[in-house]
Amino acid sequence: KELTDINALADEYLRLAYHGLRAKDKTFNAELETHFDATLPKVNMIPQDIGRVLLNLFTNAFYATHQKQKTTKDYKPVLAVTTTQKGDYVEITVKDNGTGIPEGIKSKIMQPFFTTKPTGEGTGLGLSLSYDIVVKGHGGTINIETEEGKGATFIITLPI
Ligand code: ADP
Ligand code: MG
Repeated sequence: KELTDINALADEYLRLAYHGLRAKDKTFNAELETHFDATLPKVNMIPQDIGRVLLNLFTNAFYATHQKQKTTKDYKPVLAVTTTQKGDYVEITVKDNGTGIPEGIKSKIMQPFFTTKPTGEGTGLGLSLSYDIVVKGHGGTINIETEEGKGATFIITLPI
């Protein structure tokens, strides 16, 4: 583990996810909003691991907006990433205005191999791996707020 600047890490992986998706599919686009707390303390972490967590959250969020874009008129995809300090924790919030998660599958999305994506587009391992990295590996938490059709917000906390 090493002391890491989460704002810089999130920014790097956000660009990586965005440009990676655009390279594969030119019709993909989204507005990026970042609210990075400039006074955020560095956090002791395995940056490659937390980077994988962020990359998966961003990719999932972009995917959900892109799916909605295909079926919704006058829709503007937006991904907002926020960092803040909450007491002894740093909080990273990833909020999209995509398809959201239906009530019936909410309890399943953290399970290994659960995916709603077509074969080849998802392994269903991203969130279960994220749980292992954030909760077991770093003593943090993952929480989800979502409304079907409106979007999803993933909230990660990491102890400082
Ligand atoms: P994968 O991306 O390979 O499907 P994940 O573990 O990352 O695997 O996600 C599991 C499932 O959770 C996705 O297939 C999708 O159904 C749902 N999901 C995750 N993030 C979002 C999101 N931001 N919006 C809507 N659904 C989501
Ligand atoms: Mg994923």
